[in-house]
Amino acid sequence: MPLARMPRIERLDLAQIELPADHPAAELGLSVAVHGFLIDHPDGVILVDTGVGFGNDFIDDLYQPSRERLDGLLERLGLGLDEVVAVVNSHLHFDHCGQNPALFDTSTKFFVQAAEIEAVQTDRLYTDASWALSPPDQRRVLSGDEQIADGVKILATPGHTVGHQSVVVEAAGRRVVIGAQVVWHRDEFESEVASRANVDPTPELQAAAVESIRRLKSLQPEVVHLSHCHAYRPAK
Ligand SMILES: [Zn+2]
Repeated sequence: MPLARMPRIERLDLAQIELPADHPAAELGLSVAVHGFLIDHPDGVILVDTGVGFGNDFIDDLYQPSRERLDGLLERLGLGLDEVVAVVNSHLHFDHCGQNPALFDTSTKFFVQAAEIEAVQTDRLYTDASWALSPPDQRRVLSGDEQIADGVKILATPGHTVGHQSVVVEAAGRRVVIGAQVVWHRDEFESEVASRANVDPTPELQAAAVESIRRLKSLQPEVVHLSHCHAYRPAK
């Protein structure tokens, strides 16, 4: 069923991190915001990404995160963790899934691409697995696109990682995209460039990243929300 009106969509300022000097995005600025997003859907709250988690000394030393707790951020919006029906992890790097555990052992479903689960299980340095991997009965593992609620669709948008995904919210002739880390900086969305800051310089990933940008652009969204940058708003 189509949604009668566009739900409230809020940006969550989940964390601020300091990039190590050898990080591929360091030349664009060492201090980086980490945004998540909240869709206040009639079926319940849907979160896209949960920021940096707690209790990993290696990540705390390397990235010096300052964090906001998910429950506190929701409370300021008049919402509670118990209203969250779904979490969409754009991908499972540490700064996108860190507060997943706040919703473990609840009825919240976690939507993630199979390629991300595989990356976590095969690469010890990919992320903090204790944040990334929800209990299996809460996990909804996708291989491609999936409609998850009225007007809310996940689109596979590989590039930054093989299993990166974005969310499109559609209602009453309007379209909003939560592109997460499909690009690092909004200028890359405009110019359709897969920057070295965001995408490994392998031809497959570079091509996939550009294809993902074009795919989201073709939806003609009014805004594209991004994980580490202000939103992209196309010129009218
Ligand atoms: Zn990432």
